[in-house]
Amino acid sequence: MRYISTRGQAPALSFEEAMLSGLARDGGLYVPETIPQMSADEIRALHGQSYEETAFRVMRPFVGDTFTDEVFADLIAKAYAGFGHGARAPLVQLAPGHFLLELFHGPTLAFKDFAMQLIGQLFQEALERRGERVTIVGATSGDTGSAAIEAFRGLDNVDVFILFPHGRVSEVQRRQMTTPAEANVHALAMDGHFDDCQARLKDMFNDFAFRDGVRLAGVNSINWARVLAQVVYYVSAAVSLGAPDRKVSFTVPTGNFGDIFAGYIAKRMGLPIERLVVATNQNDILHRCLSSGAYEKGEVTPSISPSMDIQVSSNFERALFDAYGRDGGAVAQLMDELKAGGFHVSQGAFETLREHFDSGRVSEDETLKTITTAQAQMGELLCPHSAVGVRVAEALRDPATPMVTLATAHPAKFPDAVEKASGTRPPLPNRMADLYERPERVTRVANDLAALQTLIKERIAQ
Ligand SMILES: *Cc1c(COP(=O)(O)O)cnc(C)c1O
Repeated sequence: MRYISTRGQAPALSFEEAMLSGLARDGGLYVPETIPQMSADEIRALHGQSYEETAFRVMRPFVGDTFTDEVFADLIAKAYAGFGHGARAPLVQLAPGHFLLELFHGPTLAFKDFAMQLIGQLFQEALERRGERVTIVGATSGDTGSAAIEAFRGLDNVDVFILFPHGRVSEVQRRQMTTPAEANVHALAMDGHFDDCQARLKDMFNDFAFRDGVRLAGVNSINWARVLAQVVYYVSAAVSLGAPDRKVSFTVPTGNFGDIFAGYIAKRMGLPIERLVVATNQNDILHRCLSSGAYEKGEVTPSISPSMDIQVSSNFERALFDAYGRDGGAVAQLMDELKAGGFHVSQGAFETLREHFDSGRVSEDETLKTITTAQAQMGELLCPHSAVGVRVAEALRDPATPMVTLATAHPAKFPDAVEKASGTRPPLPNRMADLYERPERVTRVANDLAALQTLIKERIAQ
């Protein structure tokens, strides 16, 4: 299995190389050259299997010869052992035909743990074997950073630096990043928005002297291995609801388009998915694009669902690559236009996108109201991101097809918004009840590439 860049200029890589490098050297994102197929019988055979067994069977064809079957199964087992629920991704019913996929039982209470816990294991195994050390730099709107730190803290072959927008993450998110005491963990609070953090991260990857000098590795949602890990729960949920003999639809609270893109891959593999619905908050570039074809950057407006406060959705590039018939030159040109403000998707590409994706946008007020009504009528306390999803799903779902809304974070991760809407302050699970007492360690940094690079070089030299 080879991986190619969405911009058509970087060399094709193996799974291991694509995973360790993150972003392609032409600025593009890696995608598999071909999508492995699951037959109806293979899907049917997943009924009653554990999450780990399903994960092994779904991901195995993508990994090639990077890991043996035995090692790969062992790494999957270790990745999910620390989850607080035996099903890993349990499905609960909200209403007739509407289900919630709870993806918040991992160590940092957001769906990012599914990919990050696995990637931590895969990195450690691959680096030990190669006798190498890498510097992981990540940008986060809150949940990626805590999940990455939790996955890589204390590992011998890795330093992990996380850039988060100062003052724009929730207190639980911040504390999850600033309280780990391990020396290989570096939490950096940067002036600006998440898009600024993401832009500096991309600058570092595009500075090849720096990139090679510190052996930069990326674990943002642009890393193919993260997308792959997320494909699994679409399969496990659909199988629970009767796949391959019954179609399902999914609604996904969306920011960087990584999570929903994993659903698209599941569909391309043969999982019978009817619709994939993008749910956005007031930062709605994707909803605007899927409604009109115009992909235009706006200003980021902070919201009560901060993990979706994004204007440039990196993984959308992967969907565009397919929609443009895998023409890397066309994608590279669109990305150039995006630097200048935006672009219009061609008619053909727009129609292809609309064959798979629907979208909806939810205001702050509607998000709060949905938390209130979901608690009163469905008995479920939702985090604000999940509430955005539930609201859009209720508006767009077709009663003939079961709808699964992804619950992307635990309500206790966003207690202020949840308390405001429901009157209930959701407690943290026992295993992290002392989070507010642990000492914090964080470095405040400017939105300045050179200063960031200097700091990273100094820290890893120590
Ligand atoms: C990251 C995140 C999202 C957005 O997921 P993308 O893959 O970036 O689209 C939604 N909700 C929560 C809680 C998140 O942490």
